[in-house]
Amino acid sequence: MNAQTRSHEVIVIGAGAAGCFGAIRAAEAGARVTVLESGRMPLRKVKISGGGRCNVTHACFDPAQLIQNYPRGNKELRGPFHHFQPRDTVAWFQERGVDIKTEADGRMFPVSNTSATIIDCLLGEMNRLGVQVQYGVRLTDIRRTSDGQLELELADGNRMLTKACLLATGSLVQSSLPDTLQALGHRMVAPVPSLFSFKIPGPELKDLAGVSVPEATVRLPGSKMQQSGPMLITHTGLSGPAILKLSAWAARRLHESNYHFPVHIQWVPGSFDEIRQSFETMRREHPKKRVDNLGPLSVPKRLWQRFVDMAGAGSYIWSQLPAHCRDRLIELMYRQELQVQGKSTHKEEFVTCGGVSLKDVNFRTMESRRCPGLYFAGETLDLDGVTGGFNFQAAWTTGYLAGSAMAQ
Ligand SMILES: Cc1cc2nc3c(=O)[nH]c(=O)nc-3n(C[C@H](O)[C@H](O)[C@H](O)COP(=O)(O)OP(=O)(O)OC[C@H]3O[C@@H](n4cnc5c(N)ncnc54)[C@H](O)[C@@H]3O)c2cc1C
Repeated sequence: MNAQTRSHEVIVIGAGAAGCFGAIRAAEAGARVTVLESGRMPLRKVKISGGGRCNVTHACFDPAQLIQNYPRGNKELRGPFHHFQPRDTVAWFQERGVDIKTEADGRMFPVSNTSATIIDCLLGEMNRLGVQVQYGVRLTDIRRTSDGQLELELADGNRMLTKACLLATGSLVQSSLPDTLQALGHRMVAPVPSLFSFKIPGPELKDLAGVSVPEATVRLPGSKMQQSGPMLITHTGLSGPAILKLSAWAARRLHESNYHFPVHIQWVPGSFDEIRQSFETMRREHPKKRVDNLGPLSVPKRLWQRFVDMAGAGSYIWSQLPAHCRDRLIELMYRQELQVQGKSTHKEEFVTCGGVSLKDVNFRTMESRRCPGLYFAGETLDLDGVTGGFNFQAAWTTGYLAGSAMAQ
């Protein structure tokens, strides 16, 4: 083989959010850093993230609360968030001239409203600190040498030797690296998609695309899994924060069902009794109004009319609504059962859960417990957050810790 062996202090694999942040931190702390990127440009996902605006992090500054947004990695990230959390991310970018704003739902974006600002800042820092980036260079294998170094094999046949290597290659779905990592003793968790919308082809939601409710709850019957928040009816089924959060927390279970499962939807907030009570109020306050013209609570008109049709209640006025129609309407509002038959990718953000098992990583340094000198950051690990800036925060935090430790 036409192999070449060189020596570097710190090598980072992958010029994504985690790799670039780790490289900057290691260089700041005094290391000589080379980044190897298989693609032709850096930070590709940052560019398209958040609809091109880059949802950098989330305005949640208490580590105990922050970890609630990570279906995988919540226990392990608690310590790291005491070292580098959203407040530090905001300060980091602000110190480098990038102002960050908070939107009403807590998501944080650059004031410029473009991901180019974040990319320019990161690349500017890498340039200033002398981080070398080589494009079109793909890592194919890692071996430990007898003197405790790491030998990196590249797709072009070249080899590199290093004492510290950060693996920040993102999702390992289409990568050959899981075999390499397993050979080094790591347990790998099979990748499955997270953050997706539900396909519901049945007649219940037909022609209701665009209808949204501010506070729905979606439950998985037969389990304790449920999520609440805004929900949106799409052309293919259901989406919005409540659905995306459930897709993330139940990612493995839903994968096992091959994305065919029932859900129970509560379309309005409140207890069963409160919803029932609201029907009594309608009967008392609007006895002569037609049921299909005036619904209780904040059910959107088109959705209410669908419920009225399904309950056969269209021809009644409130004072004459039969008990069986009333009970069916309450059931539809409180616990409508819908059959999910497939998933669709959420338009703005999707991630893969799975990757290197968190048990094999020391979360103080992000160093492998199986292979000294090998570090991990970002989506390569079996950790992921719900939508809202939490995935980038995990990339910044783990990259920061790995960079700090590698430079020692
Ligand atoms: C459309 C979209 C929008 C998103 N929006 C947001 C958002 O607004 N906020 C948020 O928090 N999260 C968002 N996410 C999730 C977020 O982008 C990821 O969690 C994050 O990019 C992970 O960073 P990473 O550095 O671990 O991996 P990546 O960004 O995937 O970077 C990995 C890099 O490694 C390189 N690489 C891979 N294998 C090799 C190899 N063998 N050798 C050399 N190089 C290699 C890849 O080419 C890539 O450049 C979004 C995701 C998508 C897909």
